[in-house]
Amino acid sequence: MQSDYMSAWDISKGIAEKKFSAVEIVESHIKRIKERDGEIGAFLTLCEDEALAQAREVDEKISGGRPVGRLAGVPAAIKDNMCTDGIRTTCASKMLEDFIPPYNATVVERLLDEDAVIIGKTNMDEFAMGSSTENSAFRITKNPRDITRVPGGSSGGSAAAVAADMVPVTLGSDTGGSIRQPAAFCGVVGLKPTYGLVSRYGLIAFGSSLDQIGPFSKTVLDSALMLEAIQGKDERDSTSYRGEYQKSYTDSLGKDIKGMRIAVPKEFFMDGLDDEIAASVQESIKCFEGLGAKVDEISLPAAGDGLSAYYIISSAEASSNLARYDGIRYGYRAKDYTNIDELMEMSRSEAFGTEVKRRIMLGTYALSSGYYDEYYNRAQKFRKVLKGQFEDVFRSYDLILGPTSPVLPFKIGERNSDPLQMYLADVYTIIVNLVGVPAISIPCGRSTEGLPVGLQLIGPHYGELRILQAAHAFEQEIKLEL
Ligand code: GLN
Repeated sequence: MQSDYMSAWDISKGIAEKKFSAVEIVESHIKRIKERDGEIGAFLTLCEDEALAQAREVDEKISGGRPVGRLAGVPAAIKDNMCTDGIRTTCASKMLEDFIPPYNATVVERLLDEDAVIIGKTNMDEFAMGSSTENSAFRITKNPRDITRVPGGSSGGSAAAVAADMVPVTLGSDTGGSIRQPAAFCGVVGLKPTYGLVSRYGLIAFGSSLDQIGPFSKTVLDSALMLEAIQGKDERDSTSYRGEYQKSYTDSLGKDIKGMRIAVPKEFFMDGLDDEIAASVQESIKCFEGLGAKVDEISLPAAGDGLSAYYIISSAEASSNLARYDGIRYGYRAKDYTNIDELMEMSRSEAFGTEVKRRIMLGTYALSSGYYDEYYNRAQKFRKVLKGQFEDVFRSYDLILGPTSPVLPFKIGERNSDPLQMYLADVYTIIVNLVGVPAISIPCGRSTEGLPVGLQLIGPHYGELRILQAAHAFEQEIKLEL
């Protein structure tokens, strides 16, 4: 699947230089999606007509000598939990099966402002709850590297679409690892920016204190390019960062990383970590040392306890966010009911899937009077401790390095019936969301079976540039063909 791949960077340059047209690019990508997606299942909606119309507009701008954006003619796909004006946005749930938003999420608006072409909406775990994309109400997505395996989740469709060269870039959302873990499983780059750096206006909320939107791509350069396009202050998102934004990331890639201080928490190498992943990460450490970085083992004692705090907090927030789906205002409505209570009960029972119901029950319980202190408050206190430990590390180090996932991509159906096993796939990623810092997953090797291994680099708040520089230097050094 390598031969016809072109990066977003090369596409936009080529279009601006009139080497090919946006329509040609979009047509060839639509053709590829039609050929490949029957097998992979990355898309829920393809917007062929809209995409071609957008491409024509880009071509007209160019032939008219008007300026074009930095993503001119680049086909991009969006996880189906971000609102797209006039295009079905389902969250992979029966609840929103027919929902057509009357507006664009800010990130979609920003991509359009840069002349990107929105080609479709990608599959995901229902309401972004899951680690395998098997919780979609509509279809499963297969891992393009081995179609008997899951692509990870919850942004599995966005990761698989990039891995299968159906589009060079996509957007995903990450509440506890949903960009980084599928990026690791599919052998692509996935970046979760700092909480607040990218607007979440128009993102259908899961855990509001954790959710963040970010890009998938095959190269670090493309993720940097996407971040430049989507970041920025937004009046419509009250958590939007109000400070100075880094103007360009792409300009500063390629700088050497001599003297960069990297911390490796020993807690990341605990029981449950796959041996081949551990070996790949050790190799990567050597590579960073070869590039002139100074790597030390450190301790992040709270790292191992993040999972329980995350599931309390994210489920509590989800139970509140999902209360709006009552069968009345919008979304699915049950056919048979005799009174309003029954209408709400039946609509929610019929339209939410098992995992979503499990989270609502867990969250409602954790927030109920009498248990609030014992669960929710305790989890919040833990979050503070964890934040403190990260701050301590970043006082002496530029980055934290470790595996993205403790396990290799597992077989479809393998962990489905055991939620705890599924939750464990996020043990290294969720702590990052609890603290709100940025992190990237980049391919760092392959298992003996040829499955991709992901490396996670975590930075301090607003440390995206540092992360991207280190990831880029590493990528250029190892030159992994995936
Ligand atoms: N897999 C985690 C969960 O199920 C993370 C999901 C996400 O980041 N959206 O909650």
